[in-house]
Amino acid sequence: MTDGARLPPLREVIAQYGLNADKSLGQNFLLDLNLTGRIARSGGKLDGATVIEIGPGPGGLTRAILDSGAARVIAIEKDRRCLPALADIANAYPGRLEVVEGDALSIDETALFDGKARIIANLPYNVATPLLIKWLRSRERFTALTLMFQKEVADRITAAPRSKAYGRLSILAQWLCETRHEFDISPRAFTPPPKVTSTVVTLIPRAEPLYPADAEMLEKVVAAAFNQRRKMLRASLKALGSPAEEMLEKASIAPTRRAEELSVAEFCALARVYASAAARGR
Ligand code: SAM
Repeated sequence: MTDGARLPPLREVIAQYGLNADKSLGQNFLLDLNLTGRIARSGGKLDGATVIEIGPGPGGLTRAILDSGAARVIAIEKDRRCLPALADIANAYPGRLEVVEGDALSIDETALFDGKARIIANLPYNVATPLLIKWLRSRERFTALTLMFQKEVADRITAAPRSKAYGRLSILAQWLCETRHEFDISPRAFTPPPKVTSTVVTLIPRAEPLYPADAEMLEKVVAAAFNQRRKMLRASLKALGSPAEEMLEKASIAPTRRAEELSVAEFCALARVYASAAARGR
């Protein structure tokens, strides 16, 4: 029996504390213990780990993370209505759960732990992409991020070149992390059901970015290329203000190719050429 086995079922918790789902907070609760357990264990064993959970809500996934062996869970929740339910979980797992009331967009979660941590979260969809981009900036503090997104965003994170979903988010995420599609979850698994399918993704930060490039230059090149996704690169890259054909030639990329055909390595090559062109003032 786990420490939490004496806790009431989640449906009772929701009724007891009046946790009617608030759409503006992206509240779609997962009450299925098989699924919460599967998410908790997706990114590998949790034994002894420190885990940051964003948006614990009534605490279904929180319980699963604790039951999967995390030594310490720091859960950041914006909705104070959830705090009493989370306090009950903290009591059932003494000394292992800290609840922080706040907005995950503005909190510096890296100040809350020493060393490295995992992030596991069923993310509120309205802020999921900005949160991921924020965590990518401090990726050296995270061993792995196991995150649930709406499927369309998850597909963009893991997409390969020449697919419809391939774009800015794919390149940024794959440049900095190994990305892995874990599994899809039907809307029916949630209370209330969202309109779209959800997908769990694991991102494992790389020790070094996949290929050398300056992050800002890479972002500019990728943005220019994908802003005019259907155009050939010799046209779309003109927005950068440096001679597009010359840059493409230096990066050994045919000027007639389009953004979605380029690999992460090729975008990094272009970013390096662009950086030296910009340094020469052209
Ligand atoms: N983890 C729970 C589960 O799996 O059932 C709830 C997931 S629900 C999709 C998203 C949760 O994030 C809600 O509890 C919501 O209140 C919380 N939330 C929304 N915006 C937030 C923010 N900016 N910072 C922290 N928590 C937030």
